[in-house]
Amino acid sequence: MAPTRFPFHFHSQAVSTAGTYALVAALWIFFSDRLLAAFVTDLNTLVRLQTVKGWFFVAVTSALVYGLVHRHIARLLRTEAHLQASEERYREVVEGTDDLITQVDASGCFTFVNYRAFNYFGVNAADCVGLSAFDFIHPEDRERTNDWLAGCLETHTRSASIENRQVARSGKSTPMLWTVNFSYDPDGRLQAIRSIARDISARKVIEQALHEHLRMKSEFISMAAHELRTPLAAIMGYTDLLLDQAAMQGFDPQQKRDFLVTIQSRAEDLTRIVDELLDLSRIEAGQKISLDIRPCNLPVVLGGVVDDFRTRFPDRSFALRIPAQCQHNCWADPLRMRQVMANLLDNAVKYSPPAGEIVAGCAGQLDACRIFVSDQGIGMSPEQSARIFDQFYRADTSDTAVGGLGLGLSLARQIVEGHGGKIEVESEVGKGSTLTIVLPREKVK
Ligand code: ADP
Repeated sequence: MAPTRFPFHFHSQAVSTAGTYALVAALWIFFSDRLLAAFVTDLNTLVRLQTVKGWFFVAVTSALVYGLVHRHIARLLRTEAHLQASEERYREVVEGTDDLITQVDASGCFTFVNYRAFNYFGVNAADCVGLSAFDFIHPEDRERTNDWLAGCLETHTRSASIENRQVARSGKSTPMLWTVNFSYDPDGRLQAIRSIARDISARKVIEQALHEHLRMKSEFISMAAHELRTPLAAIMGYTDLLLDQAAMQGFDPQQKRDFLVTIQSRAEDLTRIVDELLDLSRIEAGQKISLDIRPCNLPVVLGGVVDDFRTRFPDRSFALRIPAQCQHNCWADPLRMRQVMANLLDNAVKYSPPAGEIVAGCAGQLDACRIFVSDQGIGMSPEQSARIFDQFYRADTSDTAVGGLGLGLSLARQIVEGHGGKIEVESEVGKGSTLTIVLPREKVK
């Protein structure tokens, strides 16, 4: 064991105390001898007085030594109590934390692990010491961690951080952020690496979700541009044609009217897209969708929307099922409910074959108003069904997919939930889908 080195100020304190003592003792001996010699002439008396003076000196120095030792021991006891208290605090902090605290030697083997660390690794505290820290790094992260470590040592870095995955003995892998301190001896050789690792699984999940959201958003922007361009191209094309008098001579009035109907229908598509974008930007700005809730006959609203769709899609078959008991009012915003129903019908048209019948209807319950739209289309898997109300979600994002922004159903859900209601989906791949809106019959405050 290396000898304990006392700090310089302890040395100088000891030297000055001993020096002061030697000086005072020498002065005492010198002057007391001179005094005795000056006043006492009898040799016997002088010898006796010298003896008394010697005992007196012994008594005073003993008292002095006692005082010094006592003070020193009291100071030692105080220091020990402080050390114990600080050790206790240190233990509470190190062992009570949720972080993994470890120390490894220059060969990369553990020399200390806190409770949380060996608990996480799934190894006994005693067995953990001596194991290589690298054994607990995910195999795919080892090389990168090794390169990072080599870089830190080469540049004599004192502290740095790295993210990697730790693998417990059970095989459980956890992403962690390591804050690492390197300790070197005076010759610059690595002595120890002390690290604190924090579980960052929750942050990683958020980052992943954010990443996915940003990806969907950028996909959404290009989809939105495409969705706006398609009706615009049709409007431009038919307008150019209608303005071209020479070309128009070849068309009869009914055909010209059909062109205008197409322009109107495409302009309505544009309006719907722009409305959805405006709703989206309001929601993104933290505003709620404004609702003008009043007594409203939902079957009548639904009938109007179905009529519109029959006009817009004359080749498709729409059935309206409104039982007699459903003719009552609900509390709802008629315009917003129109928007939701139109979105459900629009999807039914988009995601089902031309021959498939689309059924829209309602079912009354004592305490709720239910509106449904059913199709015999492509349907969805349970995983797809679970996500269709997510912003920007589209089950099919391939180039050949039917156009859409992945916004309609997320807005529909916001609107329905704003009424205190809910929107549900039942679907089977290849068989079709039914979307149902359920609104409370009573007004929600
Ligand atoms: P979009 O503009 O893409 O249709 P929506 O929010 O209305 O956006 O719908 C989200 C996704 O849900 C659609 O892209 C589609 O994959 C799926 N979806 C919605 N309705 C149906 C349906 N009736 N049949 C099959 N899939 C549907």
